[in-house]
Amino acid sequence: MIKEIVQDGHPALRAKAKEVPVEEIQSEAIQELIQDMHDSLATQRDGVALAAPQIGVEKRIFVVAPFIFKHPEREKLVYINPRILSKSRDASWKHEGCLSCRWKVGEVKRNEEVEIEAYDENGEKFRVHADGLLAHIFQHETDHFEGILFLDKARNLRDMTEEEIREIQGE
Ligand SMILES: [Zn+2]
Repeated sequence: MIKEIVQDGHPALRAKAKEVPVEEIQSEAIQELIQDMHDSLATQRDGVALAAPQIGVEKRIFVVAPFIFKHPEREKLVYINPRILSKSRDASWKHEGCLSCRWKVGEVKRNEEVEIEAYDENGEKFRVHADGLLAHIFQHETDHFEGILFLDKARNLRDMTEEEIREIQGE
């Protein structure tokens, strides 16, 4: 079911999200939450990922949009209780926005590569090594679980132009 994506100022975005007990991952409630997250993310043309606090649920789950992968059926799209195990030393300032901070953009310093461990929607533990956009996503989404928004870390923060917004909305 499509849920409202909450905006900066909503308390769920500033809370420390709770881990999901592994034995609850396959419960109806968590499976429904994951589906709601996929459905809600799919409504956003520029949305590459969504964390549960962004629909007001203080749990450590994020989902990644299938369109960012060449072969989404082979990739992990659901990350439950994710932990970043290691980060590369090299980092750079990257363009960033957030579905919960409409309509702002800025640059955030992110590490180029990360190794992440998480549980998938079947309750299986896995590890992924990521670089590029995916590494960037992992860092942005795990910040959400600590109540951190990209605004807190951004430089050159600005409002998007009407033209940029129109382009995203596909009008
Ligand atoms: Zn975000």
